[in-house]
Amino acid sequence: MTQYDVELQGVHKRFGGTAVVDNFNLQVERGECVTFLGPSGCGKTTTLNMIAGFLEPDGGELRIKGKSMNGVPANKRDLGMVFQTYSLFPHMTVEENVAYGLKLRKTSKRDMQVRVRKVLELVKLPHVADRYPKQLSGGQRQRIAIARALVTEPSLLLLDEPLSNLDAKLREELREELKRLQQEIGVTTIFVTHDQEEAMYLSDRIVVLDHGKVEQIGAPEDIYHSPASAFVHEFIGKSNRFEAVVTSQSNGMGALVTTNGITLKAEQHMYSFQEGERVSAYIRPEHIRMAAAHEERDAKAGLGEDNTVFGTVRLISFLGSYGELIVDVEGTPVTVRTHTLRRQAGFGEGERIKLIWDAHDVSVFSWKEE
Ligand code: ATP
Repeated sequence: MTQYDVELQGVHKRFGGTAVVDNFNLQVERGECVTFLGPSGCGKTTTLNMIAGFLEPDGGELRIKGKSMNGVPANKRDLGMVFQTYSLFPHMTVEENVAYGLKLRKTSKRDMQVRVRKVLELVKLPHVADRYPKQLSGGQRQRIAIARALVTEPSLLLLDEPLSNLDAKLREELREELKRLQQEIGVTTIFVTHDQEEAMYLSDRIVVLDHGKVEQIGAPEDIYHSPASAFVHEFIGKSNRFEAVVTSQSNGMGALVTTNGITLKAEQHMYSFQEGERVSAYIRPEHIRMAAAHEERDAKAGLGEDNTVFGTVRLISFLGSYGELIVDVEGTPVTVRTHTLRRQAGFGEGERIKLIWDAHDVSVFSWKEE
């Protein structure tokens, strides 16, 4: 039987009358990096705090390395933790800060020196050992906090939004560093963030949470390309949503008509819907192709033009590696992303264009009241 590094079985937690974590089930394998991702207040930190031992679950089973953690205090769980705010001791040097956990474990002075030096080299900051935290930049402080969490060689690393206080450039640098470290050391890691790009970059698997409930657990590609619910589709990446009614359904292919009269063909999840059902249909901006409204497009064998609509370009934005257009289709703003932003005649603001997309790129979910 596989022994998981972390296992949550039906874990739940209430604050007052509200279920903040509801029937949480998860198994984390050795060396995996798993991210809890979701909007503010969805229960990410509460779950992490229960794994850390700062909070007791109201029920369910929580195991680390196969051992039940019921009643086991945080300092007996063999964890390294890094928080959003720099939690270094201001009156201690970097070396003393990093050595702190080893000192508590009564490690010999010589061993301590060797391990501190090694971990400072790992985070590429051996030259700041004698400095105080206030003499470090924000990025350096978080690197030291990571070094301090790793120095005891914990069996589990817990990171609670450790990059949130850093500027965009530094965030990118440090997430790269974190990924390298995590893979090099192979430490089992649970990472909390509300930043989907960070989650996709770092994780082997992502747990998407909403209102204390697990919406989906999967590899970043699965979460992005096969979202399990309307919430996941809307939360991860950008989506165009159409409210529609199913007009026909056979062999997994469905025809829909949107509230503003557009006819759509859809393939994903269609088998679970009946004719007449109200649904939300989603299409990602990068799955929409553009053509001039007057252009006759060659229908490529096998691809077909399942969905063709006409609209008026309202807004064009250049975002570096891609361009984004907002196109008004019968009163619905549709976002289109393209790597070749075409500013030539026929695609400018105010002009009519043709949008085309495939039925298998359309995901359909039950219609939900906002
Ligand atoms: P954020 O991204 O904003 O940190 P989160 O997903 O980590 O959010 P939690 O901090 O786990 O969310 O909080 C989940 C919910 O539980 C929130 O509605 C929060 O207000 C509530 N909550 C958290 N801690 C307590 C507490 N000690 N007492 C009462 N309610 C709490």
